[in-house]
Amino acid sequence: MSKEMQPIFILPEGSQRVTGRSAQRNNILAAKALAEAVRTTLGPKGMDKMLVDSMGEITITNDGVTILEEMQVNHPAAKMLVEVSRTQEEEIGDGTTTAVVIAGELLKQSENLLDQDIHPTVIARGYRMATVKAHELLAEFADDIARDDTDTLIKIGMTAINGKGAESAQEKLSTIAVRAVLRVAEQKDGVFEFDDDHVKIEKKAGGGVEDSELIEGIIIEKEAVHPSMPRIVKNAKVALVDAAFEIRNTEIDAKISITDPSQMQAFIDQEEKMLRAMVSKVKATGASVLFCQKGIDDIAQHFLAKEGILACRRVKKSDMESLALATSGRVVSNLEDLSAEDLGAAGQVTERRIAGEEMIFVTECTNPKSVSILVRGGTDHIADEAKRALTDAIGDIAAALKLGKVVTGAGATEIELARGLRVYAETLSGREQLAVQAFAQSLEIIPRTLAENAGLDPIDVLTELKAAHDAGSKKAGIDVHAGKIVNSFDAGVIEPLRIKTQAITAASEVAQMILRIDDVIASGQETEHNMPPES
Ligand code: ADP
Ligand code: MG
Repeated sequence: MSKEMQPIFILPEGSQRVTGRSAQRNNILAAKALAEAVRTTLGPKGMDKMLVDSMGEITITNDGVTILEEMQVNHPAAKMLVEVSRTQEEEIGDGTTTAVVIAGELLKQSENLLDQDIHPTVIARGYRMATVKAHELLAEFADDIARDDTDTLIKIGMTAINGKGAESAQEKLSTIAVRAVLRVAEQKDGVFEFDDDHVKIEKKAGGGVEDSELIEGIIIEKEAVHPSMPRIVKNAKVALVDAAFEIRNTEIDAKISITDPSQMQAFIDQEEKMLRAMVSKVKATGASVLFCQKGIDDIAQHFLAKEGILACRRVKKSDMESLALATSGRVVSNLEDLSAEDLGAAGQVTERRIAGEEMIFVTECTNPKSVSILVRGGTDHIADEAKRALTDAIGDIAAALKLGKVVTGAGATEIELARGLRVYAETLSGREQLAVQAFAQSLEIIPRTLAENAGLDPIDVLTELKAAHDAGSKKAGIDVHAGKIVNSFDAGVIEPLRIKTQAITAASEVAQMILRIDDVIASGQETEHNMPPES
């Protein structure tokens, strides 16, 4: 009696499963493709990408994380790389392309090792060892930066802005970034603290990038609610109120029956009296400017104007918080509680017209813990990219100040690391040695790409660069404009240490994770009859 073998189904119908080598290759392929896509944007001579979303909205950028977010990547392994750039963005704000390009290269190099039948877990272990060593090496050759070394800080900002659309105003933007960070950063028990929420970046198309300015205070995208309010208030006392200057409360549904006209008048008078009382309350504290998070009734607007108070309504909650920090005032949610102590102070509050729109500038604050940067640009797209460049610069400057450590860019650090890792590999035996060597090789993708994107011969450049490092020039990097090897630190290409440690760690971890996957199980697509009917 022969027993028929019955196939055993352990997965629901419609699931897809890829196992072993093909799972690995498939994941590596996807990750490599993604890294390849952003690679051409790396460095000062990198190209830009034009991204068009499903609504036809256009973004032109060379910012790694922006590209990857907009690409709406679908492959699970490629998505892990997007995650790497997102973390880099959150942790530092810059180096997003670098992280993804290194991750892609680590996976590419691992393919060779897989071909030599080296087990993925051995490769992963080697990569982990190399990462630990890389951190040690980085700590060794990083330079200290003094907190008041603004010249170097400006160079760090300029390195971040290199190659972004905003290049024409590189120095101007970088100087603004340095001043902003130094302004709002705080030193607590010797620890440097910086919250990027305290630097508000407003962009307005019109003018040029070089017209961008730092406002030691806050810019609010609002206008005075009444035409006869003052447009300039000097030595302003600022009231911040999170309560409506209105009587009708839409949340309470009351019914009022009025039987004769005099009652109607009495009712209106009563309402007017209450609004007048609210305005008097504000006036009594000595306030000359009012920012209201809620609405301001027409009648209240009129009374405020009569009192010579400059008022704005429906100010965003985040703006109210920034205003409080900049003016040292307090947001009061019950008007009854408002007193003179709650008021903030600003040397000047003005309404200015920028690119056809009114904006309120709260400036000359004594010790603002929150500042604004007004970014300009010939078109919306240029202003957008300038804003992204500025964000990168701020992130780098803050990261440099936080650790007080910087490294040389332009490929110098990666080549020096690769050198150190190869020496380290010599001390290892067996297969880990190959993995550490592959890791070293992977880091060279950065200078190679910088050269390629600058239209230089990558082999020549790399050979020369390595020779310079072998001869002891630890800071030798690529001058992408002249096509030569120079001391890039002296040339002002300086980056925070954190950008490199974070990029290398994240790239290495994601490569290890992808290498360990030998089975991809994808659940089946929802079949149509399971789907809710289309509306
Ligand atoms: P990321 O998203 O990784 O920050 P970028 O496009 O900003 O990518 O490029 C960063 C790389 O460009 C770094 O390796 C940095 O050292 C290098 N770089 C920046 N400015 C220069 C320069 N003037 N010369 C050579 N390399 C530069
Ligand atoms: Mg950058």
